[in-house]
Amino acid sequence: MFGCITSNNIALLKELLGKARKVALAGHVHPDGDAIGCVTALALYLQRELGKEVVCMFPDAIPDSLEFAKNPSLKYLWGKTEDADLIILMDCNAFSRTEVLGESLAASKAPKVLIDHHLNPDESSFNLVFSTPDISSASELTFWILKALGWDLKDLEIGEALLTGMTTDTNNFANSVFPSTFTMASELIAAGVDRDVLLQKIYFSYRENRVRLMGYMQNEGLTILPGGAAYMILTKEIQNRFDLKEGESEGLVNVPLSIKEVRLSLLLKEYEDHFRVSLRSKKGTSAQQCAVKFFNGGGHENAAGGRLYPATDLGGKSLEEYVKIALLESL
Ligand code: 5GP
Ligand code: MN
Repeated sequence: MFGCITSNNIALLKELLGKARKVALAGHVHPDGDAIGCVTALALYLQRELGKEVVCMFPDAIPDSLEFAKNPSLKYLWGKTEDADLIILMDCNAFSRTEVLGESLAASKAPKVLIDHHLNPDESSFNLVFSTPDISSASELTFWILKALGWDLKDLEIGEALLTGMTTDTNNFANSVFPSTFTMASELIAAGVDRDVLLQKIYFSYRENRVRLMGYMQNEGLTILPGGAAYMILTKEIQNRFDLKEGESEGLVNVPLSIKEVRLSLLLKEYEDHFRVSLRSKKGTSAQQCAVKFFNGGGHENAAGGRLYPATDLGGKSLEEYVKIALLESL
């Protein structure tokens, strides 16, 4: 199906799984629906169908809005690691993306497997790599790997976790959708996964605060630059004013792209000593290159992110000057 899912790779995965009693699965910092979805799905499969002891590890907590995507029968650790006989890193391209977990995971003597869909995988850190950017999500890649391992699609909780990850990473089939993505969705729905219930949990369960914040930012907080770039700065003051919780600005960065002329959209969200950066672009403009060049980050061609540390990164410019230059040079 995919170049990376060869019979050799599947044979090696089976061999590594066969030798492991306990498997650790890890996802990236600020876990999103895809990270929690693919880790949860693979962990359920390993626990229920292969009888492994599993532990799911993330550097930090998931937002309240994604609590539903966890599975109560699994053990999750936030911000700490546990020894295991096999490590599987998912939905990120390097151990460094697991931040506080990265050093101990990379130093472990256990064999390591990567399952990811970002550019530039750190192949040398892994014994086995499943990686392609030509897929919707790590959850979709996990779906095809599970099928190659012989999964029968009967466990609907596994299917639900996979459909959650694919749906959130594609913004409900709006971007990064491939023919294989529809096939995956079709097979899962045919197997009995209830997509309507999932959509309810993902897109129709927010708090009022979020809707008001989105309206405010579009009215007062949006700057559009000539040439086709837009940016918004979500300061701590605004976050406090709207009592914003982690995860509640999800999706905001996409909104300016609905304007015909806008090809590149940036959202800065203020934290203690840095801003988290989210970038989205239309085809032909690279959000990823902008993230790498100006914001210590990376990601996908049209959806990327990073961080900006004003104390050291601005080179004497004001925050808005820096942002404007970064955007205009990336168009
Ligand atoms: P988001 O804007 O949703 O936080 O992130 C969009 C994409 O950019 C995701 O695929 C994510 O993996 C990637 N990304 C976000 N932040 C970073 C970062 O700090 N470093 C790298 N390399 N990628 C990031
Ligand atoms: Mn992903």
